[in-house]
Amino acid sequence: MNPAMRAVVTGGAGFLGSHLCERLVDLGYEVLCLDNLLTGNEQNIAHLLGNSRFRFLKQDVTERMEIDGPVDAVLHFASPASPIDYLDLPIQTLNVGSVGTHKALALAKEKKARFLLASTSEVYGDPLVNPQPESYWGNVNPIGPRSVYDEAKRFAEAITMAYRRYYQVDTRIVRIFNTYGPRMRPNDGRVVSNFIVQALERRPLMIYGNGSQTRSFCYVSDLISGILSLIQAEPGDAMAIPFNIGNPEERTVRNLAWRIIALTGSPSAIEARDLPVDDPKVRCPDITRAKNILGWRPEVDLDQGLRLTIAHFRKQTS
Ligand code: UDP
Repeated sequence: MNPAMRAVVTGGAGFLGSHLCERLVDLGYEVLCLDNLLTGNEQNIAHLLGNSRFRFLKQDVTERMEIDGPVDAVLHFASPASPIDYLDLPIQTLNVGSVGTHKALALAKEKKARFLLASTSEVYGDPLVNPQPESYWGNVNPIGPRSVYDEAKRFAEAITMAYRRYYQVDTRIVRIFNTYGPRMRPNDGRVVSNFIVQALERRPLMIYGNGSQTRSFCYVSDLISGILSLIQAEPGDAMAIPFNIGNPEERTVRNLAWRIIALTGSPSAIEARDLPVDDPKVRCPDITRAKNILGWRPEVDLDQGLRLTIAHFRKQTS
């Protein structure tokens, strides 16, 4: 029998990282989860700790990483990812995107492992093209408050490509669009968690700006399926180009607020707050490449996904 594939997941105790660890363990992988718990939480992986195929190491990935034994895949998910987190932790965000990505790539090179970078739709900035295909270079303010995240991820993509070109590391880049689901923190600051908590607490839902800005929301299980397809895809030239993974159903933030009010049955009203600086006006993934090359498409529609997420938050607040 072949020994189990061994995967290292940085940021494995975070929202996406923990779902990824869980699915990799289910698929038979041995998983080593690294996290410094800056925005991650041990609660997210508590149910995995008793599994012999899962191990957690409290580790800052910007420090030296020494991992014993073979590694088949390195999946680099460590980073603050919510706008309020990266605005609060600007230097750590730049550091994990640059130094942390470099260290994670060096580990993949040393172990001759596959490498997957969790990048972001933020590399497109405030896009002038909608929907965004992977070939779009973006419209990013390099000195605005969001630049600590956007430019860190753009650097992370550049160094990933350098390791691919110069060291022949088998790399893959996923550009993750807005994703939601269980294990988002209630105080995460992102729109879906904020609106659900506000609706359940019967407080007004705070829309930033006039709510006409758009986003496209992907349920977490769909996103993880896309990432698993990408890490398991055959090596080759197609892997040299990033993959957008997200749900292409675009809607306004105001429409999202009304869906959440309807699905929670909340009496909450809607109130307006200032729009954050450089808040993208539109965002929608073109997922043609993921469909054609990975054979992946999202399956969970917004109402279904919101119901599951609302149930999770109800449990947490009851
Ligand atoms: N937003 C909002 N109310 C909130 C949180 C966010 O109206 O309580 C808006 C925000 O200005 C943005 C969109 O919702 O236009 C998505 O914000 P989020 O922070 O979830 O992620 P982003 O897509 O900006 O990274």
